[in-house]
Amino acid sequence: MDKAEKEKTGKNTKRKNAETIQPPDETHAGVLHADTPLEEDERDGSLRPQNLKEFLGQKVLKENLAVFITAAKERKESLDHLFLIGPPGLGKTTLAQVVAHELGVDFKVTSAPALDKPKDLAGILTTVSEKTVFFIDEIHRLKPTIEEMLYIAMEDYELDWIIGQGPSARTIRIPIPPFTLVGATTKAGNVSSPLVSRFGISLRFSFYEQKDMEAIIKRSAGILNIAIETDAATFLAKSSRGTPRVANRLLRRMRDFAQILRSKSITLKVVEEGLKRLEIDNLGLERYDREILRIIIERYQGGPVGAETLAISVGEAVDTLEDYYEPYLIQTGLIQRTPRGRMVTPLAYQHLNIPSMFIQGNNENKGLLFQSP
Ligand code: ADP
Repeated sequence: MDKAEKEKTGKNTKRKNAETIQPPDETHAGVLHADTPLEEDERDGSLRPQNLKEFLGQKVLKENLAVFITAAKERKESLDHLFLIGPPGLGKTTLAQVVAHELGVDFKVTSAPALDKPKDLAGILTTVSEKTVFFIDEIHRLKPTIEEMLYIAMEDYELDWIIGQGPSARTIRIPIPPFTLVGATTKAGNVSSPLVSRFGISLRFSFYEQKDMEAIIKRSAGILNIAIETDAATFLAKSSRGTPRVANRLLRRMRDFAQILRSKSITLKVVEEGLKRLEIDNLGLERYDREILRIIIERYQGGPVGAETLAISVGEAVDTLEDYYEPYLIQTGLIQRTPRGRMVTPLAYQHLNIPSMFIQGNNENKGLLFQSP
């Protein structure tokens, strides 16, 4: 995974205020490693909301969670295990940290690829304090041996540990403190059902609404001490893919443009000029998004095309395509996922200004939309 991809997917880029568990040996290099490139907002951590009140948007999800947190606190129990699903940058890690803060407990964070051997997991779970919130990012990437160990840990707060080798080997059970596992994934479908069924609470993130994105941008601007005009915040919010991480990144870039353009605040003009220079259009699409649409249209007559074929055609990893680009293109109604593959919708042709004469074949989608009057 190259640097750009890590930044896009947000993978392996996490460094939190709380304790980050480092891999125990060099074979895990690259995972949560000291020299891993970090998102700017994650480097200083200042933009990350600390409590539920600061965590904007995701209203229903937040209201339910507040009930579960209060109930667990009243019973003086650890919160049930929490499964967080959603595209990168929507706030899964942030919410896990917020939960720990609201519960007043420790927070530990790691990523599934960092848990290579049973001892990696045992090393963490035998040393956590009671009720700790233990966050595992990319939980769909857990190794089967680790996953099985986690089942017992989640259910019984015990670890199965094998001592010795060969015929004399035996298993002992080690008790561990009650804890809350927060598992996050961008690919819920890739998480095994035995693991899913062990999470008592499952929360699915959706892309943020326009008004929430505006509020996030204004909050971040306040923290970063940048003045931003209301119409500029509205425009920027529209171009941020409904994703707080993208909004924060663009806000910082707009600050750069404002500075260079000698503007005291981020105005609509600065945002329009800045986004144009970054090749981000009015739907928040980047050059790569448009490239994906164009390739489906020009090489595959609008689709359907399988994810792997498409990934090869655009020169991108399937994971990045599926995790970062596709959810937003689906959300904006530019592509559809069908059992036979990805297809562009009429909106994609309109957005790219590609005329109907481009369409060939007998695809039902095309027939409907692109007949010349
Ligand atoms: P994920 O774990 O889903 O990839 P993160 O939790 O790392 O996403 O969030 C990315 C950034 O977006 C965070 O650093 C935080 O500053 C910001 N962010 C996420 N969710 C919210 C929110 N609800 N309100 C304000 N800022 C948020």
